[in-house]
Amino acid sequence: MNDVSSDLYPAIRLDRAREAVRAAGLGALLLTPGPDLRYVTGYDAVPLERLTCLVVPAAGEPFLVVPRLEVAAAEHSPAGRLGVEFLAWDETDDPYGLVARRIPGLAAVGVADRMWAMQSLRLRAAMPGVEQVLAGTVLGELRIRKSAPEVAALREAGAAIDAVHRQVPGFLKAGRTEREVGRDIAEAILAAGHATVDFVIVASGPNGASPHHELSDRVVRPGDPIVVDIGGTMPSGYCSDSTRTYAVGEPPADFLASYEVLRRAQEAACRAVRPGTTCEAVDAAARQVIADAGFGEYFIHRTGHGIGLETHEDPYIVAGNTRRLEPGMAFSVEPGVYLSGRHGARIEDIVVCTESGGERLNNRPRDLVVVDA
Ligand code: ZN
Ligand code: ZN
Ligand code: ZN
Repeated sequence: MNDVSSDLYPAIRLDRAREAVRAAGLGALLLTPGPDLRYVTGYDAVPLERLTCLVVPAAGEPFLVVPRLEVAAAEHSPAGRLGVEFLAWDETDDPYGLVARRIPGLAAVGVADRMWAMQSLRLRAAMPGVEQVLAGTVLGELRIRKSAPEVAALREAGAAIDAVHRQVPGFLKAGRTEREVGRDIAEAILAAGHATVDFVIVASGPNGASPHHELSDRVVRPGDPIVVDIGGTMPSGYCSDSTRTYAVGEPPADFLASYEVLRRAQEAACRAVRPGTTCEAVDAAARQVIADAGFGEYFIHRTGHGIGLETHEDPYIVAGNTRRLEPGMAFSVEPGVYLSGRHGARIEDIVVCTESGGERLNNRPRDLVVVDA
């Protein structure tokens, strides 16, 4: 098969997952709907209280426990072509018992990182004495290095969110509320090709000092700097995430000074990306520039996070993470400067580590964009 989904979600991944389960000394992986299941099978199942669970045993064949009413959807998903046995259960059946009976005598299993506690605890009750560990300890090592088709999917997501940032100046105007601007942006995120809007941060004036500010009814005023951090998930499953800082009318002089420092810091961190460099060295590259300019205490978060089927995943670009970058690792570089009660600024690009350095997947200009008030 050579459709897009078989490149992104190749059948070989199920075999690799199985080898990884064996190597980790686990009895099986239990994957409920979420990014771990999607990574292994391509199946974008809806998380429901009814149990859908792919079981990948270290010994024996994988099988999918699936509610009868979800069988058609599962068969039509990429999981349908993997040759995995479907065990359909009816409304009065006990799907947890069904899982337990098929994999008796195991010492430990890996459960999907995003499995609901309700399901994890029911599995524990159905398999007393079986230790549960996070599937991420096994799958994380596979997911952290993106294949060429995965990088292409992230590149497509980056272009889509860039297309939204291109429109943002047209949405910003003194007198509009953050919420009104946010609504326009959400519409544009979908129009640009995303399947879902994951988050829309429009943080104007003093709200910009709160990195994860929620949309509010604050009215944008002339001179406001505005942090716009937006992202969504593409139909491919891969996520976008990019921040630009704008100003409506001429911003205060002290803001311009801190923004220039931030721009240099973000540039320095992007330039530090290359195979063999540690995650913490990339963080330090940004932090050093900001600290040298005297703003160190106002950069209050890590420099970045990995991205793929989840907006936040390994590797984290943070002090203490001595993991070395390898080609295919994709993550954000998003330093910020936050002056409480006054304003904030952040610049965020997704960067992929390649053999020769970092490739930025977001390419909108990084200079402050000043729009007419
Ligand atoms: Zn964030
Ligand atoms: Zn972001
Ligand atoms: Zn981010």
